[in-house]
Amino acid sequence: MCRGIYLDHAATTPVRREVQEALDEVLSSTFGNASSIHTFGQDAKRVLEESRERVATCIGAEPEEIIFTSGGTESDNLAIRGTAYALKEKGNHIITTAVEHPAVLNCCEALEEEGFEVTYLPVDMECLVHPEWVMEAIRPETILITVMFANNETGSIQPIAEIGGIARRKGVVFHTDAVQAVGKVPVNVDELGVDLMSMSAHKIYGPKGIGGLYVRKGTMLHPLVYGGHHERNLRPGTENVPGDAAFARAIELATEELPSSRKHLELLKERLTGGIQERIEHVQRNGALDDCLPNILNMSFAGVDGEAMLLNLDLMGVAVSTGSACSSGATEPSHVLLAMGVEPLLAQASLRFSLGRDNTEEQVERVLEVLPEIVSRLRDLGDARAMR
Ligand SMILES: *Cc1c(COP(=O)(O)O)cnc(C)c1O
Repeated sequence: MCRGIYLDHAATTPVRREVQEALDEVLSSTFGNASSIHTFGQDAKRVLEESRERVATCIGAEPEEIIFTSGGTESDNLAIRGTAYALKEKGNHIITTAVEHPAVLNCCEALEEEGFEVTYLPVDMECLVHPEWVMEAIRPETILITVMFANNETGSIQPIAEIGGIARRKGVVFHTDAVQAVGKVPVNVDELGVDLMSMSAHKIYGPKGIGGLYVRKGTMLHPLVYGGHHERNLRPGTENVPGDAAFARAIELATEELPSSRKHLELLKERLTGGIQERIEHVQRNGALDDCLPNILNMSFAGVDGEAMLLNLDLMGVAVSTGSACSSGATEPSHVLLAMGVEPLLAQASLRFSLGRDNTEEQVERVLEVLPEIVSRLRDLGDARAMR
């Protein structure tokens, strides 16, 4: 068991005990195929439908509006490609933003190759898209708007309810990737005015490989894989009943504990932010100050390579993430930070700290002890190199 300080909860979270218990219980006692007519099957079917109901309750949806999937990526694919194929007679234009998760961006790029047109809206310096920009981008042939709820690199929370209102008035289907938002801020599909919403269990202390897509009643969707009649014909394959039950337990706990966990995370984040700003010069905070998740902090440390900081922190037992994406061995500055107007060098010099429920004030203090030394050592090294 790794005993370091884990500050990378936006990448994934450990499975919490209560969720593991729910998973174990269904794994060991309810093995039936939920499509079977006998008692073994009906037991599994009951657990499956109860899980669906519990997930639905947490987001203000009806049980039949929840489709279980293999996670956030599949939910994004089903929402976006599923809508594009279902509505292709109606139009071929999709609106999204430049700061989406790769699961959304790469879906849109694939659709462009199939003849769809995609508008990638810009964001402001706080990583926020303005609702009027969405409004202006809508055309008669627009069939889908997909804007993420909270950004996974900066934590910035988009004005989803306003965009939802616009989408509804214009009669355009609206999808949001809420993978980072669920469990951190209140999520209600009617208040947000979304038609489709992606969720993932492993970002909220559930297992990997399980998640869900909210599909508002009456929303046309095309399946991406073909098979049996599972999940309203939208996602065939024998259901992962233990995973579904674990997801339900995870989202239930996250929703129940939201007010207290939010306070805890906000306190730690404030301490971390203040501590870094006090102890280290030439730092820049990336993301929205007010409309932001309580657990994500993105900072640039001028003159220091993000990956070098990450590796040095790892040696000290602290796990964080960089704002850069590794593509074919070379690190490139984050597309999110670049879209916000952050200079490429400063984007390469960024770290993402994402806090979680098990983090403590002592751990934050420990990070504040080791980080300034690492930054100043790497800065000295950079200066020495520059002088040679
Ligand atoms: C993690 C993440 C995903 C992908 O979810 P998986 O369950 O890992 O496929 C999608 N969108 C966002 C915003 C994420 O943070």
